[in-house]
Amino acid sequence: MSQSIYDVIILGAGASGLLCAFTAAQRGRSVLVIEKANKVGKKILMSGGGKCNFTNYFVEATNFISNNPHFCKAALNRYTQWDFIALVEKYGIEYEEREHGQLFCKNSAKEILAMLLDECEQAGVKIETDCNLTEIKALTSAQKITNHYQINLEQKQSKLTLSCQSLVVATGALSIPSLGGSGLGYEIAHQFDIAVTKRQAGLVPFMFSDYMKPICDHLSGLALKATVHCNHQQFTENILFTHRGLSGPAILQISNYWSPGDEISINLLPDLEAAEWLILSKRKQGKSLLKTVLSHKLAKPLVNELQTLWWQDHSETPLAEFSDKQLIVIGNLINKWSVKPSATEGYRTAEVTLGGVSTDEISSKTMESKHQPSLYFIGEVLDVTGHLGGYNFQWAWSSGYSAGMFV
Ligand SMILES: Cc1cc2nc3c(=O)[nH]c(=O)nc-3n(C[C@H](O)[C@H](O)[C@H](O)COP(=O)(O)OP(=O)(O)OC[C@H]3O[C@@H](n4cnc5c(N)ncnc54)[C@H](O)[C@@H]3O)c2cc1C
Repeated sequence: MSQSIYDVIILGAGASGLLCAFTAAQRGRSVLVIEKANKVGKKILMSGGGKCNFTNYFVEATNFISNNPHFCKAALNRYTQWDFIALVEKYGIEYEEREHGQLFCKNSAKEILAMLLDECEQAGVKIETDCNLTEIKALTSAQKITNHYQINLEQKQSKLTLSCQSLVVATGALSIPSLGGSGLGYEIAHQFDIAVTKRQAGLVPFMFSDYMKPICDHLSGLALKATVHCNHQQFTENILFTHRGLSGPAILQISNYWSPGDEISINLLPDLEAAEWLILSKRKQGKSLLKTVLSHKLAKPLVNELQTLWWQDHSETPLAEFSDKQLIVIGNLINKWSVKPSATEGYRTAEVTLGGVSTDEISSKTMESKHQPSLYFIGEVLDVTGHLGGYNFQWAWSSGYSAGMFV
């Protein structure tokens, strides 16, 4: 590293850090991005199954979870999904819309990372990898001439001291340590007495320790459309049985609203009043077994598991011999199956971290700390978490841009 004084130093070369970097550099600021890993943008490359769900056609504040639900609005309005789509189109990156307005690359997430790096290069951003940050000091007024922060780090056995006017924390959050998940942002917040809210793994599969454990194991790989409810929230998308428990988009979405000890309720036939339909089927197909009738709507292995749970003693009883009352009970269970996860899979597989640097402490316009001048927090380190569907990247782009315009 030849230069040691910069206008802006950004910690973390992920989604928010890279967008912030070129935005600031395009304004003529000298920008250095410091990355601890050997490669930049690892989560971008892994995202969306390698196709990066980079934004969504429908972005609203209600797609985000935060102690302050209004905080995200200014940044989302300042840099919208349309701004990012325009950039993607400028680079000729082919993309496609999937369910619920989700936009994915047609070819590869690599194209999104290459685009961000190209913008950085054109704007003159410097990026350094393999950096181990050892100390951050805010220079006191007497020491301060133009630079507000001094940063000590080690890079391949060399010790370096750098300084900058604006310091941006874009180090992401705790999810998936092997992809750069880190608590550095919270440590920096603590160092400067900036509050951090309670954190929890989000967009994460559930595990079970009760009767559900063998059921999930037997049904591992089976997916179906369901509506999942918890704490007054509901999502209708696929659920997926895995050998560890339950996953799939609807489960990941509801995990953001789940707390340990909560039950979740699963509607296995969201488009049907199951009790009514079973009573009607009894009139029409009275000689059939319940499992035969249900197998027209649900996968056979699932029906077999439900039979063991709910009508094992009547497995050979023709439908006509079930009372309406019995069918109402079974129908209601199908529309409202209450299960109690023992835990989530945790940060090892979580796509995001709920909670983070308190939005009370940060300007929603600039992302600057309200009490610690020229210190900025962007992206997932903040207490703003998006639903599944490209919202977390949109937050990274929008918050990165907002800070990039002011650093
Ligand atoms: C498997 C997976 C798939 C995902 N898919 C999607 C998707 O399709 N769509 C979507 O919207 N969201 C997706 N997400 C979420 C999305 O990746 C994140 O919300 C987003 O990357 C957050 O951006 P960020 O800049 O805050 O953090 P990150 O992109 O995580 O970047 C943080 C950077 O900081 C670096 N860093 C950490 N500690 C230090 C340190 N001490 N010093 C220097 N650098 C450091 C990290 O190595 C990393 O490069 C996915 C997440 C995962 C884990």
